[in-house]
Amino acid sequence: MRTLICLIATILFFAATSLHVFGKEILKDEDIYERRMELYKKAEAVSLIPWYYFAAIDQYERNVRLVRRDLPEAQGVLGIYIKPEIWAGPLNRNQNDTNPLTISQFGGFGIDGNGDGVADRNNDEDVIFAMARYLQTYGTDHKHLKIALWDYYQRSKTVDLILGKIKIYKKYGTLQLDDHVFPLPLYANYSYKNTWGDARGWGGRRIHEGTDIFAHYGVPVRSTCYGIVELKGWNKYGGWRVGIRDINNTYHYFAHLNGFTSNLRQGQIVEPGTIIGSVGSSGYGPPGTAGKFPPHLHYGMYKDNGYTEWSFDPYPHLKMWERAEKMKKKQGGRN
Ligand SMILES: [Zn+2]
Repeated sequence: MRTLICLIATILFFAATSLHVFGKEILKDEDIYERRMELYKKAEAVSLIPWYYFAAIDQYERNVRLVRRDLPEAQGVLGIYIKPEIWAGPLNRNQNDTNPLTISQFGGFGIDGNGDGVADRNNDEDVIFAMARYLQTYGTDHKHLKIALWDYYQRSKTVDLILGKIKIYKKYGTLQLDDHVFPLPLYANYSYKNTWGDARGWGGRRIHEGTDIFAHYGVPVRSTCYGIVELKGWNKYGGWRVGIRDINNTYHYFAHLNGFTSNLRQGQIVEPGTIIGSVGSSGYGPPGTAGKFPPHLHYGMYKDNGYTEWSFDPYPHLKMWERAEKMKKKQGGRN
């Protein structure tokens, strides 16, 4: 009986603390963040490049990996993926080379970061130190690091996403920025249902890419995440709208606003609950057009995978955030 209780307790414990498996080791989320931070700080110590540059690159790549089938799963706590031919050197016949000397002779990216004599592209320390060395060849100031990022990724969107994360990590000084809230205050009168993929909507796209949350004019609209304001302005269909990019490469789109919060600007860092504007019915016409449909917030979510961006259904996320916030309130947390 006692064994059974122990077993149940163990199972509950493991179910309650979200776990990740790395090889034989099982780590909790907090431990993973801690380990990552240790690696970033080590890289900072040897390169004099601030840790948040490494954090931003790593976080960008991790999220690309999560949505791409052509990239293998990460084996350590880092998400940075370096192709075999880059690691070993393009002309190196041994694409799985782990010898630091031959890798260096072939101009490969790989180095032995942890001093075990092997340059292993699946080893976190080797990878982070290789990245540090690469960046360092450009310099340690922001301007030169931007050039390094551009040369490495050759895609301006990717560089922009990483630069956004750098700003966010720098501001908050932590990796734990996964909190979310519902876009409208829970005290407000609102209603929404799953309209994903409906033939028509007020989102102005061929299929309805988002969820419409109906509420009265002027109800505050809040950022759902930690992120950076990527877009603020007018478009014919969306009316007054805001786009926020979070640290998971996800773009949160808020349309048909009545107006913006007065000090809101592009490039601004926001957090869950930051008020960005209010519910309205703008759109479907030239700037200033409003009232062609009942007031509501159109909420959309888009993901970047390193090549392109696509929309996915925000409804399950909205439900989840709403539920989590209600729970928090019940427990007497912040509201
Ligand atoms: Zn809509």
